[in-house]
Parts: sequence; C-alpha cells; structure tokens
Amino acid sequence: MKSKSEIPDVRLKQLVVKWNEKKIADFQADFLNWYEQERRLLPWRENQNPYRIWVSEIMLQQTQVVTVIPFFYRFMEWFPTIKALAEAPEERLLKAWEGLGYYSRVRNMQVAAQQVMENFDGEMPKTIEEISTLKGIGPYTAGAIASIAFDLPEPAIDGNVMRVFSRLFELDDDIAKPASRKTFDYVVRKVISHKDPSSFNQAIMDLGSGTCTPTSPKCESCPLKVYCGAYQAGTMTNYPVKSKKVKSRPVYYLAQVVRNQSGAYLVGQRPDKGLLANLWTFPLVEVSGDEYGEMRGQWQDYQQSQESQVRLDLVAEDSLDLRQWVENNRQDTDVIWQKQPLGEVTHVFSHLKWHILVTYGVTKGSAYELKDKERWLMPEEFKEYAFPKPQQKIVELLEGHNYL
Ligand code: SF4
Repeated sequence: MKSKSEIPDVRLKQLVVKWNEKKIADFQADFLNWYEQERRLLPWRENQNPYRIWVSEIMLQQTQVVTVIPFFYRFMEWFPTIKALAEAPEERLLKAWEGLGYYSRVRNMQVAAQQVMENFDGEMPKTIEEISTLKGIGPYTAGAIASIAFDLPEPAIDGNVMRVFSRLFELDDDIAKPASRKTFDYVVRKVISHKDPSSFNQAIMDLGSGTCTPTSPKCESCPLKVYCGAYQAGTMTNYPVKSKKVKSRPVYYLAQVVRNQSGAYLVGQRPDKGLLANLWTFPLVEVSGDEYGEMRGQWQDYQQSQESQVRLDLVAEDSLDLRQWVENNRQDTDVIWQKQPLGEVTHVFSHLKWHILVTYGVTKGSAYELKDKERWLMPEEFKEYAFPKPQQKIVELLEGHNYL
C-alpha cells in the first residue's frame, strides 16, 4: 500500500523533484531563522501545552487573532483544564463563547474533552490518529495540535497554507475544492522540517497572516522570495486559484422586542438542536422574502416621509400593515406594537444570511402569558445569558435608539 505522501501524481512529483535535498534544507533553515526572529508573541505560544493549543486553534478557525486573545484568556481562566471543560455547565460554556459565533465549535470541544477524560485518562492523546478521533477535530486542527504540541511532522492545511504553497510552487489547484487538499498535503510533507515541525507550521501561519497576504503580498520582505516560484515569475496575485463561493441563502425574520411594564424584555431559548442551539434571542418570526420586502419598503418610505422627523411613538390606533401583521401572526393582544420597525439587522453565517426587521412593542398590562422557554429579563440580566451575534446586534440597535 502507498503511504499518504506517495500519491501517484506525475505533475507533483516533477514539481518537488526541482527541490533537491539541499534546497529543502536551505529553505527550512531560512524559514525557521526568520520565525525565530519575527514570531508573533501570542498567549498560546508561551508553552507547548496541547490543551491551550487546541483551544486557540478552535477559536482561530473563524476569528482573527486580535479578537481571539481576550476570549482565550477568559476561557483559560474559566476552564483551565480539560477536566474543567468536560464538566462545565452548558450555560457557562456558551457564555464563554458569546461573541465568537459558530457555537458548535465549543459544544464539540466539550464532547471531545469528555472523550479525553473517558478514553485517554484525561491526557490529550499524542498521535495524529488518536487526536483525529476527538469530536470537532478535523485534519487541520489535528495537524496543528500534533505538530505544535507534540513535534510531529504533520501538515496543518488551511487557507493560509494553501495560499503560501500555491505561490511557492505555482500550484493552480482550486483551493475551494476539498480534493485539492491532497495536493497541498503532499507538497508540505515533502518540505516540512522534521527537526522542528512545531516552529515550521507556526512560521507558515505567521507568514500567511502578515507577509504572504491574500491581495498584496509583501514579497520584498519575504524570507522565502528566493524559493518562491510565483515571485520569480511575477505571478503572485494569480494564486491561489479559488472558484467562487455559492452565495449564502437569505432568511427573513421579524424580531419582536417586547418590553413589559416593569422594564423587562421578553426572550426565548432556541431549540436544543440546529443553528444557535439553546442560545437566547428576542422572539424571531420567519417571514417570506416577499413579505419582508413589502414591510421593508414601507419602512423605507416612512423613513423618507415627514413623519419620521418625530419620535416613533407607540400608537394603538392607526393600524398600519406591520403592526397588523404582527398582531395577526402572534395573537398577543396584550401588546401594543410600534407602528414601524426600529431598524434592520443582518448577519451572515457560513451558508445563510439572516435579514431581521426589528419591531418593538410594550405590554398593556400584566396579563402576558409566557410560552415554553420564554423569560422576562431586565437589561442588566442580559450579561448572564448567552446571546448569539444577531441578538447582540439587535441589543446594540435598541441602545442606539435609547430604548435600553
Ligand atoms: S515571495 Fe511573495 S508570494 Fe512568495 S511566499 Fe513570499 S510573500 Fe508569498
């Protein structure tokens, strides 16, 4: 059987043949020297603790380094060990992740921490095969943990690596296609340092984030320019080749912000499965694109009209379409709805884009009946609940209008 690094691709073999042993050794030495001098000082780089590296890699998957740093410190304070993470109450866990988004990442991490406790005596496993059995750890994260924490010469292929290596070797494989990973895996295995794979992979991360950037690579100051095929050919910006992403699907909502007579706001917990599971939001009602377009159009007309010069008072009479619609659909006769939305909020997930018109109402009396998983929260209690990003944006909108 062929090993992972021996894929039968003549083109790749020819490419790497151009790099003889001496060239590879020089490349590694130059790259590691550069990393030694220029490495970013990051909290998860203080040691090779696999738990810290794992947490940082999961946080960094969709989020920039500067944003991650304070989250990382807090996470480590709240859950300093794999055991603490395995045993954390869900509410606390989601709170620690609030603002980072993609909550399945932290849920999977907790399941993986429980796997570590049960299957590996509470110690992070040390082989790529075992690391890969943990929930939520895909090939990239497994490679990052194996190389950075355990000094194993494993590639950690992500967008940064594909960009740098597509330029170094002038590889025109479409990086949007999962099959292209095999190409990059092959090439990285050929040149990765076996003496210090930890620094080698982190050097690629640093080079990709600060020097070999997507649109204007800083080739003149790049430690790899003498090895870089694209630089020699002046074709850096032709790489990487990436086919267009499918557009995310739009979903339309009305957010129904209801305040009661005590100044508390109605929030509901989302179902325990699916997108943003168990997080808290103001009630969201899905509407069709046509309905949304019509309401949004009315709202925009309204904003341009004279009437918008005065404050958007709550009006029990004058039943305009929006309020009528909300009342018909929610049947909360106890709520007086403001006749126009407060504003609009959008949020892009990986495959969906939420469009939310924010409506606002107050209860007339104290007869409002809470539904299952609904609560009244005073604004000062918001910080104790895990709110997803779209909810935080709605809260900001309310604050901007001095409603909170
Ligand atoms: S020389 Fe330019 S294109 Fe090549 S690796 Fe360095 S920054 Fe990237």
